[in-house]
Amino acid sequence: MDQANIDALAAAPVAAQGLFIDGAWRAAQSGAVMEVTSPIDGRKLTTIADAGAEDVEAAVASARRAFDKGTWSRAAPGYRKAVLLKIAAAIEAEALSLAVLGVRDNGTEISMAIKAEPGSAAATFRYYAEALDKVYGEVAPTAETVLGMILREPVGVVGAIVPWNFPLMIGAWKIAPALAMGNSVVLKPSEVASLSLLRLVEICAECGLPEGVLNVVTGQGAVSGEALGLHSDVDVLVFTGSGGVGRKLLEYSAKSNIKRLYLELGGKSPNVVFADAPDLKQAAKVSAAGIFRNSGQVCVAGSRLLVERSIHEEFASLLAAEAKAMKVGNPLQLDTQAGAIASEMQLSKVSGFVETTLTEGGNLLAGGARILAETGGSYYAPTVFDAVTPEMTLSRDEVFGPVLAVTPFDTEEDALRMANGTEYGLAAAVWTSNLSRAHRMVRAIDAGVVHVNTYGGADNTVPLGGHRQSGNGHDKSLHALDKYVNLKTAWLQM
Ligand code: NAD
Repeated sequence: MDQANIDALAAAPVAAQGLFIDGAWRAAQSGAVMEVTSPIDGRKLTTIADAGAEDVEAAVASARRAFDKGTWSRAAPGYRKAVLLKIAAAIEAEALSLAVLGVRDNGTEISMAIKAEPGSAAATFRYYAEALDKVYGEVAPTAETVLGMILREPVGVVGAIVPWNFPLMIGAWKIAPALAMGNSVVLKPSEVASLSLLRLVEICAECGLPEGVLNVVTGQGAVSGEALGLHSDVDVLVFTGSGGVGRKLLEYSAKSNIKRLYLELGGKSPNVVFADAPDLKQAAKVSAAGIFRNSGQVCVAGSRLLVERSIHEEFASLLAAEAKAMKVGNPLQLDTQAGAIASEMQLSKVSGFVETTLTEGGNLLAGGARILAETGGSYYAPTVFDAVTPEMTLSRDEVFGPVLAVTPFDTEEDALRMANGTEYGLAAAVWTSNLSRAHRMVRAIDAGVVHVNTYGGADNTVPLGGHRQSGNGHDKSLHALDKYVNLKTAWLQM
């Protein structure tokens, strides 16, 4: 990966994008399009189709036809495995171009995007390709006069609605296991970042995925997303995004066919640093990356730093120094450590949280302002607030931006109470040299993932899913396959 290649790819125009339905590109039936602007410089990149309910209808019908035809759903696992492996290799072959396209769309720094987006998407397709022919049915322990079998069958049509922060990675977390189990999929990317997923869908077709098995409808969440959520021929809906939209999806399911729903929602994840952390400087560096990379637009971001009081001042200063030293700017530059905020709407949300925290008495140690406005892009300085009490808005609500709340604690019990003191339960970290304390905290923190002496980095072998209002499903690992199968009992009288 060198800068000249990135610059050349970034200079290429992006064609107007359509919907991918029944194995072919087409415009929205209404002809409507949405403009896509790059958060790098605020300039227009291209347009995407603005799908209506009638386009969703066509996409779901296509997925259903493909499923019923059985070319994919009833194919031998070896065939599905070969196609998914081919897709993984194709993603790898054009990783840089996919990463650059995604960065132009959503502003993630390229150094992170190259690994987190095509790197992770390829690994995910490979993981589920390799897993799919190791999933067995079961024979029940019945009397000899009976044969009881438990069969795992594809569910049918899977709707997948994904956000803008890591579209390829999160899209692959849904698409790959759903396809591996034989389902058809209708994908709805975020209107803020659809481009790399549109290319992925095309790659899947080029690698031999039969037509209709994977369809994509772009456009506004409140229109095409809602239509997908309300559709009675969608059997399972998998979602990553905000709690507000998650709640709506629950209503849509209730109002339509009671489709199964798996929600991966937001977080307000605690990063707990005890005075006996093995290396405070390293802890500060990793903690800063855990909240400021991708400008804090990471669901598992460690947005609440809980620090033992005896090291509180020292550690808060280390963190503030890391924040100030962070290279923020053009995400297409290889040495940029934090790129752009994905949209102006998100940037004003971040500014709003900073204003509120100042009003509520937070002590601003670093950042606190929009930067690089002269570029036309959407950039925000990594921001650290000290003296944030558990009652303050910044301790409770997800910002989804580069804003860290620092709160001191006195005892392990205090730390635990604060760590569990929000409605969320997505991720957490504990920094300590005391193995017993690490174990106690891992058990007691109510979150889907608890890191010890690090932050982030979990791979495909382990699940990611929220507790409490952070959601109810799991992406990644073999556990994710459960979302995409129905269990069927066969009871045979001998
Ligand atoms: P969002 O909820 O605004 O949008 C997510 C998706 O839902 C988009 O595709 C959008 O078009 C669609 N949508 C919007 N309104 C809809 C409606 N009425 N019906 C159906 N679909 C609709 O979220 P976002 O701003 O794109 O992403 C940020 C959120 O995602 C944060 O809360 C973040 O924590 C969360 N997130 C969670 C995880 C996880 O694994 N738990 C991972 C990444 C992001």
